[in-house]
Amino acid sequence: MQGSLLALCYQTSQMKRTIFIISLILLSGLITVSFTKLQQEFVCTPCGSDCDKKVHSKGGVCEACNMALVEKQTVKFKSITPKQVCDLLNDTSVVVLDVRTPGEYNGSSGTNYGHLKRAINIPIQELEKRINELNGVKDKQILVYCSHSRRSPRASYMLNTHGFSNVTNMSGGMSQWDAACTKWLVK
Ligand SMILES: [Zn+2]
Repeated sequence: MQGSLLALCYQTSQMKRTIFIISLILLSGLITVSFTKLQQEFVCTPCGSDCDKKVHSKGGVCEACNMALVEKQTVKFKSITPKQVCDLLNDTSVVVLDVRTPGEYNGSSGTNYGHLKRAINIPIQELEKRINELNGVKDKQILVYCSHSRRSPRASYMLNTHGFSNVTNMSGGMSQWDAACTKWLVK
């Protein structure tokens, strides 16, 4: 009798231990899930303004420019200076994309900043519907630029959302082109 009572006690304490461990696992899982949710970060749809730098804890609309807030991790492009672009273009595998209007590209409208050699011209307004023209270079590094780096961040982000992962934006745009670097400039 005493023996079976002891066995029962033992079983009960084992069960309690098991329950305790299971709850502990569930609790840590719950904490991890809520922590990941808390960690989620949002930024403005890249537009080349200061509001791009602000990080938000939840989605919605950017109060500075009214554009949608997007998940920070979906913004994958990087930005480099015109001086760095001058070196980068020595790599002939880099695809160059000018997202200004044809008039800005060829210098017939607005300030003539010139364009970069071997640049493909697809205005940002047409990029979404003409994105298939770039399917053949999806795995290549794509350098995107405009005049003042207002349109190129948005175009770079658009490329990211269409599966282009190696996208580089030129900060400053053609208005900030490095005067010492003449070899890529067509004017
Ligand atoms: Zn904004």
